[in-house]
Amino acid sequence: MQDLTHWINGAHVKGTSGRFADVFNPATGEVQARVPLASKDELDHAVAAASRAQVTWGATNPQRRARVMMEFVRLLNRDMDKLAQALSREHGKTLPDARGDIQRGLEVIEYCIGAPQMLKGEFTDSAGPGIDMYSLRQPLGVAAGITPFNFPAMIPMWKMGPALVCGNAFILKPSERDPSVPLMLAELMQEAGLPDGVLQVVNGDKDAVDAILDNPAIAAIGFVGSTPIAEYIYGRGCSNGKRVQCFGGAKNHMIIMPDADLDQAADALVGAGYGAAGERCMAISVAVPVGEATADALIERLIPRIEKLKVGPYTAGNDVDYGPVVTAAAKANILRLVDSGVAQGAKLVVDGRNFRLQGYENGFFVGPHLFDHVTRDMDIYRKEIFGPVLSTVRASTYEEALACAMDHEYGNGTAIFTRDGDTARDFANRINVGMIGINVPIPVPLAYHTFGGWKKSAFGDLNQHGPDAFRFYTRTKTVTSRWPSGIKEGASLNFRPMD
Ligand code: NAD
Repeated sequence: MQDLTHWINGAHVKGTSGRFADVFNPATGEVQARVPLASKDELDHAVAAASRAQVTWGATNPQRRARVMMEFVRLLNRDMDKLAQALSREHGKTLPDARGDIQRGLEVIEYCIGAPQMLKGEFTDSAGPGIDMYSLRQPLGVAAGITPFNFPAMIPMWKMGPALVCGNAFILKPSERDPSVPLMLAELMQEAGLPDGVLQVVNGDKDAVDAILDNPAIAAIGFVGSTPIAEYIYGRGCSNGKRVQCFGGAKNHMIIMPDADLDQAADALVGAGYGAAGERCMAISVAVPVGEATADALIERLIPRIEKLKVGPYTAGNDVDYGPVVTAAAKANILRLVDSGVAQGAKLVVDGRNFRLQGYENGFFVGPHLFDHVTRDMDIYRKEIFGPVLSTVRASTYEEALACAMDHEYGNGTAIFTRDGDTARDFANRINVGMIGINVPIPVPLAYHTFGGWKKSAFGDLNQHGPDAFRFYTRTKTVTSRWPSGIKEGASLNFRPMD
């Protein structure tokens, strides 16, 4: 069994806390590695070294910093297969999905190559007699990222790319469930030319996170994970005077209007509901067909498609639609919620509870489930299940379907399937959710737009990647200067216009 490390000052470093977490191969259920869980002292040591390294990195011109990102992109493409294998082995997702995970992170790094343009400040010539005014975008110093298990390549890159290219040093605390890919990313950053100490990967659990929250040298924290932890980190981080953005859980609704192409909608629901075993914050977990006839026709199309899904290990290649969930605990939680749905009166029209895969009996596989006649008071509707479980809530009208999505406490993503432009436009304008798809089931914005939910799905003012990332990871300074300095106006005690 492999012992993983931290990545400190450009080298793999063993943990010294004496605490470890098991890292599983979810397909077999075997423990394949141990990851060290950092103590407060280990975290503080990494931050102190990062602070020292940041001084030179922050003073390096943006074009040179961007060139490191350019080279990093080349290395990611070179090592794509190796990274995808490592990712699937720890996470369980299929290899094409793992490549997608890396690719969507890579695209944010490509966007970061535009840093010289993005970091240009503003300038006003002759704001007063001999007076010029300009603003600078300066790095914050040391920033930290705390990331979830479900995108172990993409989300670390969404955090580290913008933070680093803006001139910050960065402490990454990845998920302890699948830490290998983040460590490999750090190695590639070093190979791309990033100076040692500027990126530190500190593995750990709550102890390491609390040390991040309380370390005064950390100026900003970007978190992605479940909502209870997001709220905790936002509250404690802000009260310690840090800039904090936290992205939390989701319950994404897809409304299917009577005029929609139902075959297209059913295909979209299967992809968005069951891809990556439903372990995506942008997965569709609630289908809301409008009208009984739409609901019946939709269910009739969904059942055969879902029953045909192939569940298996990533090593089975293209024969597999989705893999296992991440841990035995995640599997138990999903099955417990499915049981609660049955007990609370929902109709389980595809039942995956008895799913077994020969040769992989100890793997964390969960068969696909489809519920019909779900009501809004049920646990399977209110809670994020984060598994291959789709709930159908039947609505009589468009307004009822809209209210259903709007009343839910989460507001990450949502979609509508319709051929009617008026309805689609009304939906996009009125819905209180951050990312909207119109005939697009998983509307994840591309790198040059920003990503973020509303309501209990996000805490903080700015979104991830896109222009918001450059705002989050920099601080604005505005300079007013007067040249020639010899202009004499006499003393004035009044606050007055410059002209
Ligand atoms: P999680 O909240 O369990 O863990 C996220 C991070 O927080 C990890 O690094 C973990 O080590 C740390 N953590 C866990 N418990 C902690 C505690 N008690 N105190 C301090 N830190 C703690 O989330 P997860 O299971 O890794 O990821 C799945 C969740 O992430 C889902 O809710 C999903 O919707 C959400 N997610 C959201 C987005 C988004 O952009 N909104 C994207 C991906 C995933």
